[in-house]
Amino acid sequence: MAVLMQNIDLHCHSTCSDGTLPVAELAQRAVDNGVQVWALTDHDETAGLAQARAIAEAGGVRFINGVEISITFAGKTVHIVGLGFDAEHPPLVQGLQSIRDGRDARGLRIAQELGRLGVPDALEGAKKYADNPELLSRMHFARYMVECGVCSDTSEVFANYLTEGKPGYVEHSWTTLGEALRWIHGAGGVAVIAHPARYRFSPNEEYALFTDFAEHGGKAVEAVTGSHSEHEYATYAQMAKDFGLYLSRGSDFHCPKESRHDLGSLPPDPSGVPSVLELLH
Ligand code: AMP
Ligand code: MN
Ligand code: MN
Ligand code: MN
Repeated sequence: MAVLMQNIDLHCHSTCSDGTLPVAELAQRAVDNGVQVWALTDHDETAGLAQARAIAEAGGVRFINGVEISITFAGKTVHIVGLGFDAEHPPLVQGLQSIRDGRDARGLRIAQELGRLGVPDALEGAKKYADNPELLSRMHFARYMVECGVCSDTSEVFANYLTEGKPGYVEHSWTTLGEALRWIHGAGGVAVIAHPARYRFSPNEEYALFTDFAEHGGKAVEAVTGSHSEHEYATYAQMAKDFGLYLSRGSDFHCPKESRHDLGSLPPDPSGVPSVLELLH
């Protein structure tokens, strides 16, 4: 019960991936916003964790190592959050490196597609926004397209470009669910299905994702996330119950100007499903 009353935010991004705040500023924001338990979960990257921990702990915040791993499941990109792992565990370190290595060639293909649509120099343009050269994200392309005046904000870019079925989207094969969970579990961590409503899976595909995830030892799902509606909070809390999973939660904060939800600003979890914090000691 005490756990549910805490301000818990276990999903956000720094400039180590596609957030706009450097780790130090993000960590200070967590402290200032009253976050009590915090995880930094950069995409496929753990470089910010040590600094985030030092600042968070100095500010009295409990810090949990985090990462958001890109996988491909049923032909779609799915995100698996890892929490509470040893960030030095070699298979995890090498696995994340292999995912980052694949991003360069994908970025080139995205830029070629955008060039065909009349967006000039998209590779160089997107790279200007990527502080970590190994972590070129669609978000960086989106920011460049806003700069070019193609759209007025990044949400509009994703609604019209860069997502499945839209121009500028390129297929990419990330790692598998089994691999990602092996890395997380090998490093002593807990695996979480990130923002499940975002995938637009059919009911059968979603059932397969949850079933395979649980069979591979995955333990939690995000219900309350910046990517979900209030209705979806309840839907996925019920899914967690049905599959015997715990609840994780997080703003998915990227940027003060772009993100709908600030760090530590989400409502409490629906009652009746245990928090993933019960697994993290
Ligand atoms: P990537 O890992 O390069 O495929 O980029 C994925 C990132 O793009 C996500 O983590 C979000 O930051 C952003 N993104 C993807 N789809 C959307 C969307 N529909 N609306 C807003 N941001 C999105
Ligand atoms: Mn992102
Ligand atoms: Mn995500
Ligand atoms: Mn995220």
